[in-house]
Parts: sequence; structure tokens; C-alpha cells
Amino acid sequence: MKPKEISEFSDTALLIVWDDGHESIYIYEDLRQSCPCASCDELRKSSKIGREGKLPFKRIIPMGTSLQKVEIKPDRMDPVGLYALRFKWNDGHETGIYSFDFLRKLCMCEKCQPA
Ligand SMILES: [Zn+2]
Ligand SMILES: [Zn+2]
Repeated sequence: MKPKEISEFSDTALLIVWDDGHESIYIYEDLRQSCPCASCDELRKSSKIGREGKLPFKRIIPMGTSLQKVEIKPDRMDPVGLYALRFKWNDGHETGIYSFDFLRKLCMCEKCQPA
């Protein structure tokens, strides 16, 4: 399973069109919360907030931005080999490598996550 197309769906979400034609929309904040790296994994396991599914990550807020506008977003996305994407988030975190298999499992559409 590989992305055929990766594009910005909105200011807060990413669209991936897969090679089987499936379309997945990912909210950046959810992607950040799901970061698969070891340190985020530790945070999720060790913190109370983490157990409720949210990472207590810090956001770097650029001077002069109004607080309502601060949203977690990737500053950049880089391919890792032919199997994954690496996000550099605007909170400075960049150790998470999101394999395509992992991303596909994160898809929140009705087909992938039946109620
Ligand atoms: Zn991480
Ligand atoms: Zn899906």
C-alpha cells in the first residue's frame, strides 16, 4: 500500500490518495498525537493525559500570532525510502517516522474504522 498522491486538504488536514484509490483525510493534530516514535510512545504510556489518548506535547508559538490561530502543522514532510513519511512538526518534533502501513491504519473513514 502506497500513496499515489499526498496533498494539503485544508489548513488543518492532509489528504492521501492511496494506490488502490482509497482516500484518507488526516487531521494534523491527530497525526501529531499518533506519533509513532519511542519518546511519544513513552509519553503516552507514562502520563495521565497520555493514557487518555492525548500527548502533553508543547507547542512553540511564534511571537505575534494570536492564540486562536495556533495549530499543530507540519513544517515539512519528507519521504523516508519508499515506505514512510517523516513529518517535521511546528512544535519542533521530527523523530516520528510514519510508515505507509501505519498511516493507512490511522485512516478514520467509515470503511476503515467501522463503528
Ligand atoms: Zn514522536
Ligand atoms: Zn479509510
